[in-house]
Amino acid sequence: APPKSPWIFHQGEFIRAGDLYMGPGLQGLHYGTGVFEGIRSYAVPDPGTPSAPRSGGPETSGPDDDRDARAAAGTYLFQAAEHYARLHRSCRLMRLDLPHSVSELVDITAELLRRNELNGHAYIRPVVHKLALRPGTPFGVRLSGVSTALTIMAMPMGAYVSRDGISCGVSSWRRIPDSSLPVNAKVTGGYANNALAVDEASAAGYDDAIMLNQRGEVAEASTANIFVVRDGQVATPHLGADILPGLTRAAVIDLLASEGGPRTAERTVLRSELHMADEVFLTGTGCQVVPVVTIDGRPVGDGVPGPVTRLVQELHHRATSGQLPAYRHLNHPVVFR
Ligand code: PMP
Repeated sequence: APPKSPWIFHQGEFIRAGDLYMGPGLQGLHYGTGVFEGIRSYAVPDPGTPSAPRSGGPETSGPDDDRDARAAAGTYLFQAAEHYARLHRSCRLMRLDLPHSVSELVDITAELLRRNELNGHAYIRPVVHKLALRPGTPFGVRLSGVSTALTIMAMPMGAYVSRDGISCGVSSWRRIPDSSLPVNAKVTGGYANNALAVDEASAAGYDDAIMLNQRGEVAEASTANIFVVRDGQVATPHLGADILPGLTRAAVIDLLASEGGPRTAERTVLRSELHMADEVFLTGTGCQVVPVVTIDGRPVGDGVPGPVTRLVQELHHRATSGQLPAYRHLNHPVVFR
C-alpha cells in the first residue's frame, strides 16, 4: 500500500492531507487574505539519558537544576496558548471567523500530534483564510461576506538554523509599515514582502535579510525579531518600529530579566548600531535563538557568538524543555497513548 499522507485538521475534522480539496477560487489564495501561526513542540528526554543536556557538572548546576522542578520526559507544545491567542487577534483584524477557543485549538493540536505520532520535535502551522464568496455575492477584493477555513498541519522539525551563527544582509526592501498592513497580525499576504527580502539576501550569498522600516530604523529579520548587544546592554526594536511582536522575543526579554541576565531596552535601533554591536541575535519560533555573526559582510563583534547570545540560547533551551519552574506554564504536555 502507498504511504498514507499526514493527518491534518480541516474545517472541524481530521482528514488526510491528500484528501484535501479547496478549489481554485480561494480568496486567500488570490489576495493573501489569511492569517497564520507557527508553533513548536519539543521532545524532552528523560533526565537520566545521556542525550539529556543537563545531567549535572559544575558549569551546568544552578538554582534551576533541581530535577524535581523539571518537566517529565515527553512532548510539550511551547507557548501554544499564546500563539492561538495571537491567531485569534489576527483573525479579528482580518474579519476571519475562528469557531474554536484557544484551549480547544491547543487540544486539537495535541490530537493532531498524536494522530501523526509526532512525539519528537515538531512544527505546527495553523492557517485561517478566506475561502470563497457565499452564493450570490460577486467575486472581489473584500473581507466581509466571505467564508473562512481553518487548516492545521504538523510536521517533524528539529533545529534548522545553525546555532553557531548565520550571515545577514540589510535588505533594500523596507518592511511594510503598520499604516499599510497591520504588523501585529500574521497576515499571509504580507509575507510577499519578506519573501522579496529573503530572495535578495540569498542572491547576495547571505543566510537571511535584516529589514529596516520606512524610517530606516532596524525592524526585524525575515521571520524573526532582532536583538543587539553592546557593552553588556541589550536592545531590541520597540513595538512602534513596525515589527511583529514575537512570542520568542517576549519570552527572551522575560528570561533575561528573571534569570539574572541583562535587562532589554525596547527602543529605536539604528542601522549603524548593527555595525557597532558586540553581538546580534535573532529570535523566532522557527529559528529559535540564532547568532548573527556577519552583517553585510562585516563581522559582528569578534565574528563568533558572544556570551549574551549563548546565555539566551541556554535559557530558551531550558524554557522550551520544561527546566524552568517559573516558565512551566508555557509547556503544554501532549500525552501519547
Ligand atoms: N517577525 C516575523 C515577521 C515573523 O514571521 C516571526 C515568526 N512568527 C517573528 C518575527 C518571530 O515571532 P515568534 O517568536 O512569535 O515566532
